[in-house]
Amino acid sequence: MLYFDNNATTPIGGNALNTFSQSLELDWFNPSSPYRSAAKVRAKLELLREELASIFSLNHDQLIFTSGATESNNAVFAHCSTIQGGESRCLISPFEHPSVSDSAKKWFKDRIIYLPHDGDGKVLLNEVQSVIKKEKITLVSLMAANNETGVIQPWEELSEICSSNGIFFHTDATQWIGKIGVSTFSNCTSFCGSGHKFNGPKGIGFLASKIPVNLICGGTQEFGLRGGTESFPAIASMITAFKDTETKIDNIEERSVWRDNFENQILKKIPYSKVLGVSNQRLWNTSLLVLPKFNNLRWVSKLDKLGFQVSTGSACTTGGIVDKNSMLETYSLDINELKKVVRVSSYLSHTDEDWSKLQSAFEEAFGLLCDESSDLSVLSL
Ligand code: PMP
Repeated sequence: MLYFDNNATTPIGGNALNTFSQSLELDWFNPSSPYRSAAKVRAKLELLREELASIFSLNHDQLIFTSGATESNNAVFAHCSTIQGGESRCLISPFEHPSVSDSAKKWFKDRIIYLPHDGDGKVLLNEVQSVIKKEKITLVSLMAANNETGVIQPWEELSEICSSNGIFFHTDATQWIGKIGVSTFSNCTSFCGSGHKFNGPKGIGFLASKIPVNLICGGTQEFGLRGGTESFPAIASMITAFKDTETKIDNIEERSVWRDNFENQILKKIPYSKVLGVSNQRLWNTSLLVLPKFNNLRWVSKLDKLGFQVSTGSACTTGGIVDKNSMLETYSLDINELKKVVRVSSYLSHTDEDWSKLQSAFEEAFGLLCDESSDLSVLSL
């Protein structure tokens, strides 16, 4: 099987798995307990925190371990809306992950303003200064890279604008971290990442924030911001995965070319297919296709039988289908096209050959689906 759904999750890496199982066996003490064995686990945990914080140019107390990006994103919106009061507004992109967009709706209700976009998955910042001044914007949140199209957003520019206007700026860096280098995230007020997107375990991530954000009450862990016993094995494993991944992020341009060649062949060989987000700079691993004739579930299951795992879109949304309204509006798709969206996402172990095999499988799947549908039309006569 060739797995091409790495934006949904990645398999755990060998070293990360070893770290996880060793820590489960040896470092299972509660890091908050008062005896020496537990104090050793606490010391190791704090060393790891310092290590990860310094990679991102942060102080150790600015990095909080969480269960993942969903929790981190929720916490930022809950915290900001509570602290900033009932009239404050937030500014987000129309294609945020639901852990941002739904949190915005829950906490800011009708006080959400959406950034304009270019029609191909990237926000436009030309009016942002005046919007920030005119409206009472207190929180701005823009994802670093989109999970569906891979389109890279102008988060660095927006972060600077917010910083010069004294506004809280959060970026959901879940799809960026582990695919592109560390970058200038420390300029943001807060950002988050998730272990399972870069060969770490599931259920562990982090929120980095210059302003203390209350996540979970009921314990003094994580500087009193997130109560609950820390999962040291998961934290240690995530950081092993992160460091391993950072050494492997290379040849990004070459990797993008492999993806581009794949897309060019698909466009050539499968009539009426299209690629979303293609006019913008994208993550090197992602391709969001709109395919002709057959619904995406048929494509996915045919490809599965041929040995390739691809997705209908974000695994986080209902039924595995990409956020309907946001896709319709962002890319001016009609409702039928929406049912034909297939996402392909590679990761660091994939080669040019893997992309070529995937492209041949798409062609074969197309042929088989066409044959099946002509058989069906004969049957129905
Ligand atoms: N944000 C983005 C952009 C994502 O792609 C995802 C995962 N699909 C999340 C947030 C949620 O991450 P987690 O699984 O760590 O909660």
